[in-house]
Amino acid sequence: MALRSLEDARAEVLAACPPRPPVTVAVADALGLVLAAPVVAAVDVPAFPNTAMDGFAVRAVDTAGATEAGPVSLRIAGTIRAGQAPDPPVGPGEAVRIMTGAPMPPGADAVVMVERTAVAPDDPDHVRIAAVAAPGDHVRVPGDDVAGGAEVFAAGEVLGPGHLGVLAAVGVPSVLVGPRLRVGVFSTGDELVPAGQPLGPGQIHDSNRVALLSLVARTGAVPVDLGLVRDDEDAIAAAILDGAARCDALLTSGGVSMGDFDYVKVVLDRLAEMTWMQIAIRPAKPFAFGVVGRGGGATEAAGVPVFGLPGNPVSSMVSFELLARPALARMAGVPDDRVVPRPRRAVAAEPLRRRPDGKVHYVRVRLEADPDDGRLHARSAGGQGSHQLLGMARADALAVLPDGNGVGAGDPVDVLLLLD
Ligand code: AMP
Ligand code: MG
Repeated sequence: MALRSLEDARAEVLAACPPRPPVTVAVADALGLVLAAPVVAAVDVPAFPNTAMDGFAVRAVDTAGATEAGPVSLRIAGTIRAGQAPDPPVGPGEAVRIMTGAPMPPGADAVVMVERTAVAPDDPDHVRIAAVAAPGDHVRVPGDDVAGGAEVFAAGEVLGPGHLGVLAAVGVPSVLVGPRLRVGVFSTGDELVPAGQPLGPGQIHDSNRVALLSLVARTGAVPVDLGLVRDDEDAIAAAILDGAARCDALLTSGGVSMGDFDYVKVVLDRLAEMTWMQIAIRPAKPFAFGVVGRGGGATEAAGVPVFGLPGNPVSSMVSFELLARPALARMAGVPDDRVVPRPRRAVAAEPLRRRPDGKVHYVRVRLEADPDDGRLHARSAGGQGSHQLLGMARADALAVLPDGNGVGAGDPVDVLLLLD
């Protein structure tokens, strides 16, 4: 079978994974989701002029000539706490004690921070101001954070903690976003045993499922553990149908290469129009993909994509990064020009060698920022076999080595960051 380029394979997968219909979600539940419509602020934030400091609201002109040695004395007309109305006003020769966030009283145009003031115990009705204030000092102007009427976030933005804070600040209770996907994961393999159970002859612990479920969780989707499935066509078919009825997408591992018991691709061919590929990358060459129908739920019309990831532990994770992650991003509403992670430019800190074989190699590397030039320096994160998971665990990125002999120390190299 001819090898296909990753770009070609990914384009086919992405085309079969259209964005899911948007839903309205409470702001508190929207972390990591993708805005489906722009957000326009209905109000200014801040909504009223207020003080950025604890201190005294004054008329700036009244502080003319004030110094540490020669302070001016103003009469204290009252106190305004945060949450109170802006009262009393400040007349000539007066000051109002004011706390951070409290509204500026009428008449005042500046705040002198408390550290520059003194109130003598024997004269509690006056404050001595030891510094000149300019109009506007420590006053927050309405709309200087968010201007009412302006678009604060565009459609397609991924909502982070700061975004949610802004939405709350402008008083928005819910947002229209791409749905939080439920992504089912199961492992296939007669040799697999869950961690915690003793191993019989030839058996190994199932590591792919926990790694893939965790990758799913990191994307912000809901991971759904569909367990361990034997190398048996009916069992695999049942697991896919059960998962498709409960999830928006499925990830399987194992059973997609050339072995005699690689049934995932066989079953996918039965249940869906399957594409089985050999991709010109290393690791993660074998990959199967199909879309199965679904019994119910919001995304019925689109069907449920099944990503048949390879069984080798590193391959399954790399395959997730290169194929499943972009597809899940697209389904969640990330705009098409942002679904495929862009590589960063780094420098090889040591030779990263390979042999020509017609494939692009994705080498697990650790990155270190050079304190002098600020550039990212990449060095191998460990063994590069597709079964050597420790190198993946220690990696910050995948270095992209196009077909050829690799790169030498000091050469530029593209890297795909793994944490985000
Ligand atoms: P397969 O693609 O099913 O032929 O599996 C390729 C290699 O990955 C074999 O060495 C399997 O034992 C191993 N493997 C498959 N699934 C898992 C899993 N869930 N956890 C750890 N290793 C696995
Ligand atoms: Mg297998």
